[in-house]
Amino acid sequence: MRKNIVAGNWKMNNDLSQTEALLSALTNQTKTSNAEVMVAPTFPNLYQAFNVLKNTGIEVIAQNMHFAENGAYTGEVSASILKSVGVQTVILGHSERREYFNETDELLAKKVDAALANDMRVIFCFGEELADRKSGNEEAVVESQIKNALFHLEPSAFENIILAYEPVWAIGTGETASPEQAQDMHAFIRKTLADKYGTDIADSVSILYGGSVKPANAQEIFSKPDVDGGLIGGASLKAEDFFAIVNAF
Ligand code: PGA
Repeated sequence: MRKNIVAGNWKMNNDLSQTEALLSALTNQTKTSNAEVMVAPTFPNLYQAFNVLKNTGIEVIAQNMHFAENGAYTGEVSASILKSVGVQTVILGHSERREYFNETDELLAKKVDAALANDMRVIFCFGEELADRKSGNEEAVVESQIKNALFHLEPSAFENIILAYEPVWAIGTGETASPEQAQDMHAFIRKTLADKYGTDIADSVSILYGGSVKPANAQEIFSKPDVDGGLIGGASLKAEDFFAIVNAF
């Protein structure tokens, strides 16, 4: 059975003292759902987060990494460096990385390979822009993002892949895909996987929804059969809101 997962993406927010305050608030929350819980602080705060959260059941994950093993890549962080501070899972392909840092499907395929080669799990993000949806191209865009970055993988690799559908028009805008729009796309994503890898693999991969998920809408979105959780931006910066979403399962 696939897992329910709620992951908080803190993006470029929170200095050390703000991170410590949020970590401490998280340790005071009570989880009543069966969801796996993850948070993604900034790079400089990963080790502190790992130490504070290590016995809480909240996993600390990274927002990005480079594909190279180590070496002369100024400003970058490798899989092995992340693992050395306790990180086992990395978000790759977030739309902000694609838009502001020119990350292409081709580059992301290399990053996915590097993470998997280092026995890390990947939360692979993708999603259409507003213009794609307006022109009815959302499924074609999503299909090509998935195929280009993931369809070279062996079937067994999908044990370590989590998918995150994040329509760009719903990220940080307060605009959420309706639960039906999310379900329709998630079902399409699962069918795309099934056509290539078979239904056993397609049914075992968790597909998260991201884009303006908040306590008020989480339950309805998570109630959809192909929505296995959420990737939460803004609402993950307050421990109470984040746990209200975690407990919406
Ligand atoms: P949001 O961000 O919840 O603030 O819309 C989601 C994301 O970017 O993962």
